[in-house]
Amino acid sequence: MELSEKDLQFVDLALIDPRIIIEMRYASENNFLRVPLYPVNKCFLRRKVAHKLSTVQDWLEKRGKRLKIFDGYRPLHVQRKFWEFLPDERYVASPEKGSVHNRGAAVDLTLLDSSGYEVMMPTAFDDFTEKAHWAFYDLSVEALANRALLRRAMELRGFNIHPHEWWHYNDVDWKMYPIEDVKLEDL
Ligand SMILES: [Zn+2]
Repeated sequence: MELSEKDLQFVDLALIDPRIIIEMRYASENNFLRVPLYPVNKCFLRRKVAHKLSTVQDWLEKRGKRLKIFDGYRPLHVQRKFWEFLPDERYVASPEKGSVHNRGAAVDLTLLDSSGYEVMMPTAFDDFTEKAHWAFYDLSVEALANRALLRRAMELRGFNIHPHEWWHYNDVDWKMYPIEDVKLEDL
């Protein structure tokens, strides 16, 4: 498969699918670094990835659920700040290797119920404990079911899980998208 120039473009997810709720945690103090690292609350993704995510929303809508996004494209210079704070490859990709977020082909997300509330999941976002791992099963029936529903929705449309973070998914074709460092405010 080859990607067109259009597929590679960065798009604002809110414009591609306004049904999807955007709450970029790194645009606020509500993140593990406790400081805002993004100047705007905007989720940018590669056009093709954003359209795939929109079809996930289609599937979920029939089940009374909605996607809520915590992170998408992350410029490489922000990745360096993450690494300074938490140099542990189980949770943060080293800036030399880069994260799939730096390619605009990864999303951090959860599910909202029909009233717009976040559903019960194993942990909060960016919980760096075993409880966030896929191999962790000592959870409530509700959390297990919600985690599984999100996985089903994402895998059906071509996204893969991350073993240590229930909220993180990579586009299966992530290697086709290069690492970028363009600033969010310049997109
Ligand atoms: Zn992530």
